[in-house]
Amino acid sequence: MSHPAAPETDADSERKDFIRQIVRDDLASGRHTAIRTRFPPEPNGYLHIGHAKAICLSFGIAAEFDGWCNLRLDDTNPAREDPEYVEAIKDDVRWLGFNWHSLRHASDYFEVLYRAAEKLIEQGDAFVCDLTAEQVREYRGTLTEPGRDSPWRNRSVAENLDLFRRMRAGEFPDGACTLRAKIDMSSGNINLRDPALYRIKHVEHQNTGNAWCIYPMYDYAHALSDAIEGITHSLCTLEFEDHRPLYDWCVDKVDLAHCPQLLQSLGAKGYPLEAGKPRQIEFSRLNFNYLVMSKRKLMALVQEGLVAGWDDPRMPTLQGLRRRGYTPASLRLLVERIGVSKQNSLLDISILEGALRDDLDARAPRRMAVIDPLKLVLTNVPEDFTQMLTLANHPKDESAGVRQAPFSRELWIEREDFAETPPKGFKRLTLGGEVRLRGAGIIRCDEAVKNAAGEIIELRCTLDMQSRPGMEGANRKIKGTIHWVSARHAVSAQIRLYDRLFTVPDPDNDEGGKSYKDYLNPESRRIVTGYVEPHAAAAQPEQSFQFERIGYFVADRCDHAPDAPVFNRSVSLRDAAGK
Ligand code: ATP
Ligand code: MG
Repeated sequence: MSHPAAPETDADSERKDFIRQIVRDDLASGRHTAIRTRFPPEPNGYLHIGHAKAICLSFGIAAEFDGWCNLRLDDTNPAREDPEYVEAIKDDVRWLGFNWHSLRHASDYFEVLYRAAEKLIEQGDAFVCDLTAEQVREYRGTLTEPGRDSPWRNRSVAENLDLFRRMRAGEFPDGACTLRAKIDMSSGNINLRDPALYRIKHVEHQNTGNAWCIYPMYDYAHALSDAIEGITHSLCTLEFEDHRPLYDWCVDKVDLAHCPQLLQSLGAKGYPLEAGKPRQIEFSRLNFNYLVMSKRKLMALVQEGLVAGWDDPRMPTLQGLRRRGYTPASLRLLVERIGVSKQNSLLDISILEGALRDDLDARAPRRMAVIDPLKLVLTNVPEDFTQMLTLANHPKDESAGVRQAPFSRELWIEREDFAETPPKGFKRLTLGGEVRLRGAGIIRCDEAVKNAAGEIIELRCTLDMQSRPGMEGANRKIKGTIHWVSARHAVSAQIRLYDRLFTVPDPDNDEGGKSYKDYLNPESRRIVTGYVEPHAAAAQPEQSFQFERIGYFVADRCDHAPDAPVFNRSVSLRDAAGK
């Protein structure tokens, strides 16, 4: 490439963020000899742009340090999880360009987690509690008041073991009791006030079916899953910072490294554990204005039909971004640009759009398309004239090659490229004025033909034969250049003009009892019929182009076909905020 391309990897530049520094230090000190990370989504929805940051960090750091990263589905909440989400998550991670070392489920470890819980009971570190959910809340205390011990806290080991086994055996209904860690009801950290480790749920699980009616709580299952897999650096978002003492408690009290027998049920799925224990490191969540990101809210948009589905090109899901035309490279570039810190912040959506624009500017072939067509007739060109013009695929990159675009007497141009009464500074076509047709020559407009309603339906123009490619006057100076397609050869295409889904920067604000659904942008999808040159119509699904002077477009992943093209606007050519 003849111009600087957007950086795609960091192979040669050592990145300095605090997580990579910890990893480097741990390798240097010998605390770890190999780096093992994991990305642990809960399969209760589709991944979104925030997850892309977590994926790029965990997979990216593992790769940079010659380690590995597991994809683990943290499926401890059976009621909300579904195999549909599992498949989409796998698809998304691969699409972003990463390969997992091993695909795991927290549910693969249910037997180990159960045995570990029995161990905690035997050590006097866990007890079966009969308080109702409401009572548990009452006993928990508040940020300023300590909690109170559960009356069931001092049951004997034998009684606890018996009850826990009967919980597993299905003797009790949902909510009858829980297994709780015995930590400290007066801890300043509420997460340590005897948190639940297991609850009863007579619900079928997406992976284990009806094998279990008790399910481990997230904090417990998560910490131990990391330990089981020999994860060295467990990267997660800041909201887990207050959970870290509980994470460490679970890992330390169960102490898998010294109880390999606990892993027997796993067979080949167990790893030889490193002596070091997993270390949780928190980083800031990725948030953008003009978006909502929580799975719950995205789910509501889908279920209420406010968008066309999880992969609606306006959705911040990875499936939606992909369909919109976001490339994996653009998302990796984004994550690289925003860096990693412990400072939560709301980023401007233009940073996301900018990363795509930069990636596509460097790589997307140029094509001509007209999205609001107006007929233009070159009166001095014969009816049956056709010429194949050779046009560069990329103005700044010769290696992108050339293509042939047909030129003939009747063309489509963009309606807004003609003005009967031009505003000041208008550089495009006017009555009696001249403009250059990209790659074809200079034309003068002689007449604007109108229909009975007074609307312009056709422009009649003269082509300056001396300005044609290769002719003496080809480089004659002229102010404006417009794009066009040959009417006889162009392919009619459905063009989906997408815009931001919300009209306000913070759709999540709860002002005046409004919800994010009140801020949906009615103009966020406009569908028009336009014309594209044959070489655009022939695109493969998911192929991206710059339609000259209009924006970046992608052939729709699902609906595009060469004889019935469908293009989605991925992003405009320039940031609208600058206008
Ligand atoms: P949400 O809160 O949007 O519903 P989640 O946190 O419940 O998402 P998980 O499936 O639990 O989603 O997340 C998997 C991993 O992705 C976690 O380690 C989490 O910290 C990380 N993650 C989730 N959202 C973001 C975000 N906005 N920015 C960075 N990382 C994120
Ligand atoms: Mg979560």
